[in-house]
This record gives sequence, C-alpha cells and structure tokens, in this order.
Amino acid sequence: MAKKEPLVRYCRFWVDGRTYSGKIRDNSVDIVEGDPFTGFSPIRLSYPIDRVKFLPPFMPKKIWCVGRNYLGHVKELNNEVPKEPLIFMKSISAIIGANDFIRIPEWAGRIDYEGELAVIIGKAGHNIKEEDALSHVLGYSIMNDVTARELQNSDGQWTRAKSFDTFAPFGPAVLITDKMPEDAVISTTLNGKTVQEASFSQMIFPIPRLISHISRFATLEPGDVIASGTPQGVGPMKVGDLVEVNIEGIGSIRNICAN
Ligand code: MG
Repeated sequence: MAKKEPLVRYCRFWVDGRTYSGKIRDNSVDIVEGDPFTGFSPIRLSYPIDRVKFLPPFMPKKIWCVGRNYLGHVKELNNEVPKEPLIFMKSISAIIGANDFIRIPEWAGRIDYEGELAVIIGKAGHNIKEEDALSHVLGYSIMNDVTARELQNSDGQWTRAKSFDTFAPFGPAVLITDKMPEDAVISTTLNGKTVQEASFSQMIFPIPRLISHISRFATLEPGDVIASGTPQGVGPMKVGDLVEVNIEGIGSIRNICAN
C-alpha cells in the first residue's frame, strides 16, 4: 500500500558503490527499503547529504508533457493560448539524474532549458473527474524539459526535439503528498542567474484539469509522470553552462551542459 506521509522526500541515491532508496532530511539522507508505489520502511542508517549522488527517483512509465501552460511562455514564443491542454510525450530514454551531463548536440541548433513541476501518478484511472484528480497523485518532483527549439519548429511534431538522450533531468526527490501548495514557486537559474520564476497558480490549466484531460483518452498508470509546462523565461544553453531548476519544498536539480 502506498504510504502517504506529507513532506516525505523520497529519493534514490548512490554512495560507496551502491544504490539505495532514501528519505531526504535537512542535511542527511535516511536509507529506506521499498519504493513509494508499494510502500517503504526505514532502516537505521543515514548518510550526510553531500556524500551522496542523487539518481532519478524512479524510472517513469511514461512522460506526458503539457505545452503552453503559462501565459507568459505562450507569449514569449508568439503562440496562441490553447483552448484545451496541449499534450505531447517525451521518451523515458531521455531521463538523467542530478549532476549528470546534458549532452548538447552540435548539429541541432538552439537547445533550451524548461523548468517544470512533474506530477507523479500513484493510482491508475480512466475518465478521472477533476474533483477526484488529486487522489490519483502520489507526489511531485522536478523535470527540466530540455528542448531542441529549432527542430521543434521545423519538425512540426515534437518527439525528436524533446527526446534526445539526456534531455529529461528528473529529480532529485519526490515530495510525497497529493496537495502541492498552489502558490509554491518554481525557478530556474542559468550559471547562477535567475531566468525563470513563477507560481503554480499561474498555470492556464491547473493540475486537476491536466489529469482529467489526459485520462479521457489514456488510462493513467502508477509511475506516469506529467511535466506540467514551463513558465516564461526559456532560453538557450551552451556547453559549459550550469542549469538548475528549483521548486520550494522539493529541492533543486542541477546539470552541466557538455557535448
Ligand atoms: Mg515543456
């Protein structure tokens, strides 16, 4: 049975040549057994947080993505406000963890960061009503929906531009709660300078609407992730850049661009 303790931050990490599941506290990570989908229990062993390397918290079953879900971002790319959520997918083979390299392909033109709230589905459902939607949420994490912007425009459909290897930094933790505060803030920094900052209350289609909308055409399953769209301030990254996406209460995921 999924354990739903508010404010638990579940993670996977590597230390001393082994991988573990864990629970992040302030400056340490407690080892746990199990996973948040089937339940986990503590083990009396912890590591200082600066000794561990965070891995993606789990491998998603699918990555559903939402395009143009913040007005400022719709306008900065001269797009029209969508009449209903605009859904696309990103390959799970693009997933990387904190501090892994984002590989910038030399031939693909401009490559952008897109900091996003990742909604983690914990309970399956089809035709989910908006008022029931949050009961299907296991928790929340962070995804950087890295995008080959020029290929996105020239391809017309977005699969290639969104699915290059390493284009989905994910983690470092899943905040186990179905009630993400609406006014929590997401921010992205590029080489230490803040480039994106927004509250989730600014979403055009809020999380319950996204869950309900997707579940009308596809059964949502435990382990599905919904990357809920990026706020304004997207921009290009180049080799050597350090990009970091932060969400209050979850943490931050930082990655360096390489080729
Ligand atoms: Mg996006």
